[in-house]
Formats: sequence, C-alpha cells, structure tokens
Amino acid sequence: KVRVRFAPSPTGPLHMGGVRTALFNYLFAQKHGGDFLLRIEDTDQNRYVPGAEEYIMEALKWCGLNAVEGPGIGGEYGPYRQSERKAIYRQYAEQLVQSGNAYYAFDTPEELDELRAKAEAEKNVFSYDLHTRQQLNNSLSLTEEQVQAKIAAGEPYIIRFKMPEDTVIEEKDLIRGEVKFNTNQLDDKVLFKADGMPTYHLANVVDDYLMKITHVIRGEEWLPSMPLHILLYEALGWAETRPQFAHLPLILKPTGKGKLSKRDGDKLGFPVFPLLWKDPKTGDISRGYREDGYFPEAFVNLLALLGWNAGTEQEFFSMDELIEAFSLERVVKAGARFDPEKAKWFNRHYFQQKDEAFLAEAFKPVLQEKGVEASDELILKVVGLVKERCEFVHDLWEQGSYFFAAPESYDEKTVKKKWKPDTSEKLQEIEALFQSVEEWKADAIKEAFSTFMNDKGWGFGVVMVPIRLALVGTSAGADLFDICEVIGKDESLQRIRKAME
Ligand code: GLU
Repeated sequence: KVRVRFAPSPTGPLHMGGVRTALFNYLFAQKHGGDFLLRIEDTDQNRYVPGAEEYIMEALKWCGLNAVEGPGIGGEYGPYRQSERKAIYRQYAEQLVQSGNAYYAFDTPEELDELRAKAEAEKNVFSYDLHTRQQLNNSLSLTEEQVQAKIAAGEPYIIRFKMPEDTVIEEKDLIRGEVKFNTNQLDDKVLFKADGMPTYHLANVVDDYLMKITHVIRGEEWLPSMPLHILLYEALGWAETRPQFAHLPLILKPTGKGKLSKRDGDKLGFPVFPLLWKDPKTGDISRGYREDGYFPEAFVNLLALLGWNAGTEQEFFSMDELIEAFSLERVVKAGARFDPEKAKWFNRHYFQQKDEAFLAEAFKPVLQEKGVEASDELILKVVGLVKERCEFVHDLWEQGSYFFAAPESYDEKTVKKKWKPDTSEKLQEIEALFQSVEEWKADAIKEAFSTFMNDKGWGFGVVMVPIRLALVGTSAGADLFDICEVIGKDESLQRIRKAME
C-alpha cells in the first residue's frame, strides 16, 4: 500500500514550496488509494519556533490536505512528533556503531576550529571526512577501553556516520531519473547529538522505515541527502523495504532567476505564505494567500501547476480532477517560475464560479469593516452588478462602494476633461427630468432619458459622464441606470444636486 508523508520542521511558517510538497504527496496518495501522513520533524530544538506547528496544521487544513495519521489525528505508527519519539532513535544509532557504520566522536569545538583554520590556510574547503576523522579522538581511533573511559568520565560525544570510501551510489529518482553520487564527495554526517536528540538524517530514515513509507516525495534541496539516506537504510538492514525517492523542482522567482525565498514576498509585493504569519520574536507580519483574499481552490490549483502539468491544455483543476490527473512522471525537473499575475487570474476564475449568494455572504465582513449597514437584498444586487469586474471579494468594495455611500470626492482628471461651464445647467435639467420619472426602474429611467436627450439633441457623452461623476465619483462603474435604480430616486437626485455645488 502506498504510504507517503509530509514531514515539515516547525522552524517557521510553511512557504509555498512546502505546501506544494504536501499537495503532491497528498495527490499521489489519493491517486493510489494510499495513506498521507503528517510527521513533525522537531528534533532541532535551537530552530524551534513557537506557533509554527499550529500554523502548518492550519495551512494544510485550509488547503484541504488532510492527513490520515499525524499529531492530533493519531494512527498506528505514532507518535508523529519526533520530539516524542526521542527514545526510539538512540538504539538505532548504537546499532550503527556496533555494526561499524558509525562512531562516537569526542571532538571538542577547539579541535574542530583548529582543523578548520588549517584547511583554510591551505586553501582547502573544510569537510568532515575520512582525513578529518583520522586526526581526531573517536571510537575508530581509540581503543575500546579508552572509549569507555571517556564515556564514564562524562565527556560529551556525538555519533557520526562513517562514510565509506570511493563508493558510487546510483539511484533512480522518480522525477530526475538516474542520479549518481560518489561517497568521496560526502562527509561524515552527525546522526546523534550530544543533547540526546537524533539529527534530521537519522530520525527521518528511522521514521520512514518504522512508518512504512513507500515513497519519499520532497523538495530538491534534499537531493544531496539522498545518498546518505540510502546508505543508512543499507547499514540498518532495511535496503529491501526502503522507500523510493522523488525530488520536486524548485519554485523560482517571477523573473525566473533564482529560487523563490521566504523573504521574496514582502520585497516583490505578493505573499509567499499560505496564511498570514506573525513572527513571535519580532512581531513582523508576512502576508498570506488566505488573508489576501485567495480562495483555497485557487491556491491549490496554482500550486499544482508549479512543476506539474497534465500534458493537456487544461489549467483549471478541482482537487478531484488533480487526483485523477496527477502522476510523478509528469512532474518536471526544471525549476518552475512563479507568476503572481497568474495567481490572480486563477482566483478570478474561482471567484466568477461562486454563486452570488456565497459572494454576498463573503462580502459582509468587508462592509462591516467599512462601517456600512446594508440589507441582504442590496448586497446581493450589488454583487450581481459588479461581480464581473472582480478577482477578489474585497474588489467588490473597490468596484461597488458607491452603491453604499455617496462619493466623497470626484476624479480630478475626469472633472477637468468633462465638466464644462454649462454642465451644471444641463444637470439641473436632468435632475428635473429624473424628478418626473415615476416608476424608478432602470428601464424606465433609461427610456425617459433617451427621449429627453433626443429632444434636446445633446450628445450623450456631454451629460453621461457628469452624471456618472455625480453618482460614482469616477468615470467607471456599473450601468448608469442600474446604479440609479439600486441607490434609489432620492439618493440619485441628492448626489446630482451635490455635484452641481
Ligand atoms: N524535515 C524536513 C523538511 O523540513 C523533511 C525533508 C524530507 O521530506 O525528508 O523539509
């Protein structure tokens, strides 16, 4: 049975790339009738950020990426928070030492600094490799008695993986195809720390094994760790059942140059996080797609197309359609450029699909914030009239505020161009005409207006734009007669009179 996991570290808010990883895991699981798990990788206590785990859960929920096993959900293979699995990891680290695949290292920071300085002086890049290992005190260079004496004396130690020499690791990544590594390029990674916690590498491999993970689908930044993980599976005797790997492409900046980073959003003017994030230390706020007014369907849809396509022209996908169409074979290797304009375009699509009652309901909090009280009937009408011009719920206000309140100012450019010396006089006549309209309906107003204009022989533009200015404040907006009807006769006349002042 397919079992995949999303394994974030709670070191801050998830960014778009993280959510995409979760999404691809979710789609893959659903497609194959498998399980999607959530595992919190919180073994690095120095990087733990309060609130990050809650944020991750909420973001996944907002996107509809529900795990069947995980913290707070339960499951047969729990606990699903690595800090609660602490007791599990040590025995595997010890097992690796016993089998000669790992060793206790008693290095002091001073010794390491010295070796680093030496490497620098020789213009070498410091690497904790075979040569480093041979110059230091560890269970490979000391006798068994010496090692036991050090441990008994309470000397701190860590456990490192003994990277084999000159070995080629070949693996067929499900997205990248054949990839090769030579172990001479790799270092002796720390597996177990002096604080009694495993590192990411050990905990990740142990848990993927114990949780019966069949496919590891994760970001490209973890590709360099794959050979170590493969060696760990082998050293622990789990080669037979180890998962297959798929490394997802990077998400690139809108320029296509470089990886989209957590800091880019605020610099470039679009969110890079699913939800708004308030940094617990600095109090700084980062924008989120949810708070910016995106629908989760739009966000999920746009993420799905960052590095994957169905091989057809289709761009709009519901979650069910994504599950149906998804395959790792159609995930690309090259980085996927993120286009914030396209993100809006996706939202526009889902916005237009919503029914008007839904949008009216969603519009209410915006109106409330603006201090507007309006009947449900009016709100629904306005939604119907301006919907087409909108991409977001808050656009309804930008596009329709004049239905709820008279303009406070008039667009200067339009005034300059269209407000002539005789405009007030003409509007006076329009006011009188509107007064005389009995049935205050768009059609009736329009008819009276047209007849009047024909009699007068005035050009339409000469009065249409000034009326619009009076009612809306700008030269834009819905159909003029619709506006008149919706705001009512008294209000229409009042706005026209006010504009003449
Ligand atoms: N904890 C790692 C992360 O934060 C997980 C990487 C993996 O999926 O192996 O991305």
